[in-house]
Amino acid sequence: MNLNKCERCGCFFASKNSVCPNCESKDENEINKLKHFLSEADTTVTVDSLAFSTGVSLKNVNRFLKDKNLYTTLTNLGLDSQNDSNTNITFSL
Ligand SMILES: [Zn+2]
Repeated sequence: MNLNKCERCGCFFASKNSVCPNCESKDENEINKLKHFLSEADTTVTVDSLAFSTGVSLKNVNRFLKDKNLYTTLTNLGLDSQNDSNTNITFSL
């Protein structure tokens, strides 16, 4: 059986998801927050200000954006993600 390490809490779990079942609902919650905030915003929102305004950590926002479908959904809602993903690769481990 393949075990994955949860990208949120770091625990190991058996599933092909990137987060464990415990964190799935937290992710869902935060994703809804992001969508809600973007749908209410009149102007485009940068990734930084989205994270700041919703209280969702930048790390998690960027992780959500790696999901192609979600990325499309959020950018369609007005997220300005011009410097997406590449800006965070320098993040030290
Ligand atoms: Zn977890």
